[in-house]
Amino acid sequence: MLHFFNKKKKDDKGQPNSGRERAECFDCGVPEGDTHWNGCDKEICPFCLGQLISCGCCNEKLGLIDTQKYDESTDYLPPEIYKSGFTEEQASRWSAILEEKGRIPFILYPHFCAKCGKLWPDFFRVPDEEWERYIQPDMRDAIICKECFDFIKQVIKGADERSKK
Ligand SMILES: [Zn+2]
Ligand SMILES: [Zn+2]
Ligand SMILES: [Zn+2]
Repeated sequence: MLHFFNKKKKDDKGQPNSGRERAECFDCGVPEGDTHWNGCDKEICPFCLGQLISCGCCNEKLGLIDTQKYDESTDYLPPEIYKSGFTEEQASRWSAILEEKGRIPFILYPHFCAKCGKLWPDFFRVPDEEWERYIQPDMRDAIICKECFDFIKQVIKGADERSKK
């Protein structure tokens, strides 16, 4: 967990676009190609490729984790760090480590339905068993829009019913 970053939030969400207009980060508002504002929750950690503000790489790279001395209740961190975050010195050391590795600049990769190509489909919930029943194994990690899911379900069901007759 990073505690030291300043958070700059943009209120308007920014319009996702399909072309090569320079998009802005929905969270911190930087244009594509720039590095996110410190503390943006869209920034990817260059070490683990997880979310930079929540991964534990900072603690690890700063050598703060000590599984002998500390326990789970503080995530194996010194209690004062767990409670109040990094000291300025630690924060700037972590910044330097990140800069040296190279922070990942913001480029917007849109979500789109793997079936119809619709951009930014709304997410919806399906019980796992239904997803597995109708979505073939190699597509289960893909994004599929609600309309396409309903279509897939309908055609598979229809074929099943016909074959039973
Ligand atoms: Zn951002
Ligand atoms: Zn990380
Ligand atoms: Zn679709």
